[in-house]
Amino acid sequence: MDEPYCETPTPASAAAAGHPGTGGPFAECVLCRKPTEYPESVKGATLCPVCEWQEAQRTACSG
Ligand SMILES: [Zn+2]
Repeated sequence: MDEPYCETPTPASAAAAGHPGTGGPFAECVLCRKPTEYPESVKGATLCPVCEWQEAQRTACSG
């Protein structure tokens, strides 16, 4: 297996992701109040990726 000698340059999206507040107002998670990836204009309860995953696990395990 070849080792990846060439590192890919940092994508612009990564820089934006590490900087909260960029890209406009985001709705906050209804559970932990962290900013989500959804805009504030989205309707209904918004969950951050972490809570969304936990909810999915809970749903998958129930029943
Ligand atoms: Zn959350």
